[in-house]
Amino acid sequence: MMIRAANTLQEARRVAGMAGQADVRPDWSPVAARVRAEATGGWDDSVAVERFQRCGGRLVHGRGVLTGPRTVRVGAESFTARRGIVIATGSQPSIPRIPGLDEVAFWTTHDVIRAERLPDSLLVLGGGPIGCELGQVLARFGVRVTVIEASDLLLPAEDPEASWVVQAAFEAEGIQVRTGAAVQRVRAEGDAIAVTLAGGAELSGSRLLVATGRRVDLTQLGLESAGLGGGRYIEVDERLRAAGGIWAMGDVTGKAIFTHVALYQSEIVSADILGEHHPPVRYDALPRAVFIDPEVWAVGMTEASASAAGLDVNVAVKHLPSTFRGWLHGGGGSGVITLVVDRRTDLQLGATAVGPSGGEVQGMLALAVHARVSLAELRSMIYASPTFHGAVGEAVAASGRGLMTVLDLGYAGFAPAGNRAPNGQ
Ligand SMILES: Cc1cc2nc3c(=O)[nH]c(=O)nc-3n(C[C@H](O)[C@H](O)[C@H](O)COP(=O)(O)OP(=O)(O)OC[C@H]3O[C@@H](n4cnc5c(N)ncnc54)[C@H](O)[C@@H]3O)c2cc1C
Repeated sequence: MMIRAANTLQEARRVAGMAGQADVRPDWSPVAARVRAEATGGWDDSVAVERFQRCGGRLVHGRGVLTGPRTVRVGAESFTARRGIVIATGSQPSIPRIPGLDEVAFWTTHDVIRAERLPDSLLVLGGGPIGCELGQVLARFGVRVTVIEASDLLLPAEDPEASWVVQAAFEAEGIQVRTGAAVQRVRAEGDAIAVTLAGGAELSGSRLLVATGRRVDLTQLGLESAGLGGGRYIEVDERLRAAGGIWAMGDVTGKAIFTHVALYQSEIVSADILGEHHPPVRYDALPRAVFIDPEVWAVGMTEASASAAGLDVNVAVKHLPSTFRGWLHGGGGSGVITLVVDRRTDLQLGATAVGPSGGEVQGMLALAVHARVSLAELRSMIYASPTFHGAVGEAVAASGRGLMTVLDLGYAGFAPAGNRAPNGQ
């Protein structure tokens, strides 16, 4: 809801120069009201609980602790499982050890989602998906935002083109980006918070959001009483079994921190508990999403993860403004598609789609990776025109052939993995 509202503001700002004039005056209060009333029911779960109970479930509010392979204690009550126990206790914000951080009042994602008023300025520690999403939302509502990222790229887990496009889009809308920035110290400075970077640069903001990832805490679950524990995550097999009669799913399994992964795993857990057939778990076509504008979607392997796995890959990089639909779109149409193909088998291993409707483009690429579709197959398809997913057709077209290449004479097609620079230079 927050991201949708922020994107609406930005679309209105794009009216100037394309379609006339629009007077845009951001107001956070309808967003906070919508999050409070519609998304969370006033931070009250009774509607969801009632829905669950109508299905025959029973909810016990409280902290559960395993007391044996078949037993769980919640407060004074003890429960014995006939069928099994499912552990789905999620993850928490991971707070880095930075001198001074524990002496200031900082925000985590939890606090941003509950915010009724916005600060004048915000320092965001962490340029991963959540730091980028929330930083851009608040910037679009008029907050002066600086994103501080330790690695050299925003969204460091994805192909570098995604980071370059996002950084350029952020800077174009006034978000300051400090990459390769190691935070040395945090301190309160009156009502503000000051951050010192290695090298001595000082940044200041009226709020500090710590968005440096999530961690799984297994220490309070009583896992050892069931013969589990010891690792960072709960180890599970291909049916999400952690031990006889115990399943785990969601963030605690350490596969990926996404709702769609937890939901996918829950299907397998349910089938396995009920003794029904379900194909074993697979993560090679895992979709990843960053809901910024331009949207960033990725599936399967990046060039870096394919190379790290010892695979010999070819990579195609197609910039959206040089595709038919991207060129038509104009303002707000920055983006890129990267395709990672196994040179030996010609199969699609992974892809990134950045741009307007990035998620919709990624849908077909996710199917291609999941169904192990070959590049030859992708080349033989008819792509509707002009569409954003048509950019995939333009990316896979044999270089120098086809009408669409007229729009992008410099397009090199697939090339072996290797060093590339922003904008294909
Ligand atoms: C700001 C933010 C934005 C995100 N955006 C996206 C997104 O756009 N798309 C996406 O796919 N994913 C997103 N995620 C990730 C997604 O929320 C998680 O991957 C997903 O919720 C994991 O589900 P889960 O069931 O494993 O854990 P959770 O949803 O965290 O649920 C775990 C529950 O267990 C409870 N619990 C913990 N310990 C105990 C205990 N001992 N006894 C009883 N209860 C306990 C917790 O209170 C919690 O309610 C986002 C996460 C954050 C923080």
